[in-house]
Amino acid sequence: MRRRDLMTGLLTLAAARATAARADTPPLPVVASFSILADMVREVGGPGVAVTSLVPPDGDPHEYEPKPSDLRTLAAAGLLVVNGLGLEGRMTRLADSSGFRGPVCVASQGVKPRTMTEDGGATVTDPHAWQDPRNGALYARNIAAALAKADPARSDAYRAAGERYAAAILETDAWVAQQFAPIPQARRVIVTTHDAFGYFGARYGIRVLAAEGISTDAEPSAKGIARLVAQVKREHVRAVFLENMTDPRIARALAKEAGAAVGEPVYSDALSPPDGPAPTYLSIFRHNVPLFVAAMRG
Ligand SMILES: [Zn+2]
Repeated sequence: MRRRDLMTGLLTLAAARATAARADTPPLPVVASFSILADMVREVGGPGVAVTSLVPPDGDPHEYEPKPSDLRTLAAAGLLVVNGLGLEGRMTRLADSSGFRGPVCVASQGVKPRTMTEDGGATVTDPHAWQDPRNGALYARNIAAALAKADPARSDAYRAAGERYAAAILETDAWVAQQFAPIPQARRVIVTTHDAFGYFGARYGIRVLAAEGISTDAEPSAKGIARLVAQVKREHVRAVFLENMTDPRIARALAKEAGAAVGEPVYSDALSPPDGPAPTYLSIFRHNVPLFVAAMRG
C-alpha cells in the first residue's frame, strides 16, 4: 500500500469513527413550551434532539397548567426553549420549581415587540411574534445557536440546519406576501376570536379585529362584542375566524350577530395534531392564508 493510500485510509477510518461516536451520543432532551416552538426545535435539531412540548397540539399556551409529569420532563432536559414576550407566565415558575438549572433559549430574542393598549388602558406586550415569518427566521437562528451551545458536538449540524430552515421560512414569507398582493387595502381585514394575528397583520398590511385581547384568559365584554359586531357589519366582513385552540362559541355568536359566516379554524398559537391540516409551523401559513384570502375576496 502506498503511503498516500494508507493516510487516506486512516483518515477515512478516523472520520467514520467520529461519525459513529456522534451517532451513538443520545439525542439532547429539549423541552419547548408549546407546539409551534417544538416543531421549530425539531426542524433545527433533526436527529440530534428529542423534543417534548409542554402544551400539546391544539392546546392553549395562555391557559397552561403544569402537570406533575412536566416537572420530571423538565428536570431531565438539557435545554428549555420558550417564546418570551410574556407568553409563559406559569411556565417560568414551573422551571424554578422543577429544579431545572439548564440553559434557557428565549426564541424571540431580538424581535421588535408590538405593544397594545387593552380595554382597561393597560399597555401589554403582544407575545405572538412567530406570526410574522421574518420573526420566525430569527427564532430558527436563536434556536440553532442555543442548540449549538448546549450540544457542541453537533454544533455544525445545528447551525447549518438553522440557516436552511430560516431560508425556508423566508420563502414562505414571500409566498404569503404574494397571496395578499392582489387584495385591495380596504378589503384586508380579518376578524378572529383572540388577538393573535397582530404581527401577521402588521407584516402584510392587514387590519386585525378580535373579540378578545392578546390572551385568552379574559372573556370579552358585552360592550366590546357590540362594538366589534358593528364594525364587522360596517366593513362588510364576510367571515369570522376562530383559532384552533380557542372557545368556538365566541366566534359563532359574533358571526351570528354580525351576519357573517364562521370560517374554518385557523392556527395561531398551536399546531394541529400530526394528521391535521397544520402539523408544522410553516403549514400554519399554508393553511391560514388561503382561508383569509377567500374571506377577503368574499
Ligand atoms: Zn394567543
